[in-house]
Amino acid sequence: MPAISPHDHGQGLRSMNQSVPTRESVTTVRGINDDGLEGLRALSRTGPPAFSQTEIENIDRLLPYLTYADQQLLISGIPVSRLWDGSHSMLLYLPDRALDNYWSIQSAFGRYFNVTVHCAVKACYVGRVLEHLNEAGAGVEIASELEWRLVRRLGFPASRTVVNGMSPPVHHLQRLLAEDELLIDVDSDEELEHLEWQAARSGVRPRVMVRVNPLPPDGFFSERSKLGVGFEEALLLLEKLAQSQHLQLAGLHAHQLARCADPARFGLMVRHLAELQQAFTTLTGTEMGLLDLGGGVETRYLLERAGHPIDEFAAEARDALAGVDNVQIMLEPGRYIFGDAALALSRVRGTKRKDGYDWLIAEVGSNLLPPTSDRAYPALPLRIAEGQVWNRYQVADPTPTPARLCLDAMLPADAPEHGIVMLGCGAYTAVRASLWSNDLPDIAVLSGGRVEMVFDRRSQDTAFAALYGVNLEGVV
Ligand SMILES: *Cc1c(COP(=O)(O)O)cnc(C)c1O
Repeated sequence: MPAISPHDHGQGLRSMNQSVPTRESVTTVRGINDDGLEGLRALSRTGPPAFSQTEIENIDRLLPYLTYADQQLLISGIPVSRLWDGSHSMLLYLPDRALDNYWSIQSAFGRYFNVTVHCAVKACYVGRVLEHLNEAGAGVEIASELEWRLVRRLGFPASRTVVNGMSPPVHHLQRLLAEDELLIDVDSDEELEHLEWQAARSGVRPRVMVRVNPLPPDGFFSERSKLGVGFEEALLLLEKLAQSQHLQLAGLHAHQLARCADPARFGLMVRHLAELQQAFTTLTGTEMGLLDLGGGVETRYLLERAGHPIDEFAAEARDALAGVDNVQIMLEPGRYIFGDAALALSRVRGTKRKDGYDWLIAEVGSNLLPPTSDRAYPALPLRIAEGQVWNRYQVADPTPTPARLCLDAMLPADAPEHGIVMLGCGAYTAVRASLWSNDLPDIAVLSGGRVEMVFDRRSQDTAFAALYGVNLEGVV
């Protein structure tokens, strides 16, 4: 690269680029003259369809805890202005919704099956939310020693805990085997051997299930996925379990879906799982009653919006298991339970017009809300005043990344002034929050009509000092 001396007056730059771009050549290259709608389609490719103004104005039909009254948004019947002073953005958890989601899936499958629901805690660690689920008798699914300690501290009994997680360390296995009512998943021959060895020494004979992949590989569980085993291997592991002196064969486990909104695909997974169960019984004469159908179902409000409520998933499972006797079903939903059980109340940093699009820069960032699709976090206004023009906004975050939170959001023109609320912020958000780039919002729980703070600006400073060894207190 030729050095550019300060005396070049731009000559160096010009000779590098051969010619100076003109206004016309720049606009052609960037396609600014494209038809606007085509551009919109090109910009957003993934995620649910954008919410229309009518859907937003009648949001209570989809999410009963949200309504607009007197031009204001109400959360659980309380005007937002009474819950949030707007001085700092806030992630607000709604334990009542998580509970309602738990009951909805429990009762949908309970119509046809003997079923237990084990909430996948890896999607949400907020104590208050999990405590409500524990009081209601919900089970939990854990994937690590860290999560084991979490559910122990919150008082979930071992009898309602399902243990997953790859290659558990010895001390963790030993601790697990001090409980005699656990159900433990194995995901490889080696895991089975380690578990058997430890069980022989503990004197406890745990119930064990084998994780298998009943569906052909797809984008999420590719053929190179480390998770689960194929059918041949599963049969071998089941036989070993059936013969083990130290382990009890409980059944089969499948978790192979991610944000699945298609009941037929869920049904297909269950059908394949049942086929494997039958094949094993035919081959060995051994019965095993437990089928753990995993999680991987889309957020509840999005399923219902798409016209496929959880009842359709239950009906698919019923059809897939018609003729299978004495089956005990387990479910491990994470996103379905927690996804729509938190909202982000976000201030708006600013707006930007670029290439025909109106961008809205929210204060809550992708360091809290991982952008899983182009419309992962639908944005709604906090106020709906008469006479406001509604515009289409591309909602993005303030981090120095191309992250976008919700494309094509319809919002009244005064939304940037009052702030926005983003939906579906409860699963895999706070658990993956990072102290990076921008402030995290306050994190709080709406409980008994009151906002209980979990994490605030001071906690952020404490966490920052603990993580990075820099005390930010008093620095403005
Ligand atoms: C993550 C996970 C779940 C929950 O998945 P969701 O997509 O949140 O429903 C359930 N089971 C296992 C084994 C998991 O790893």
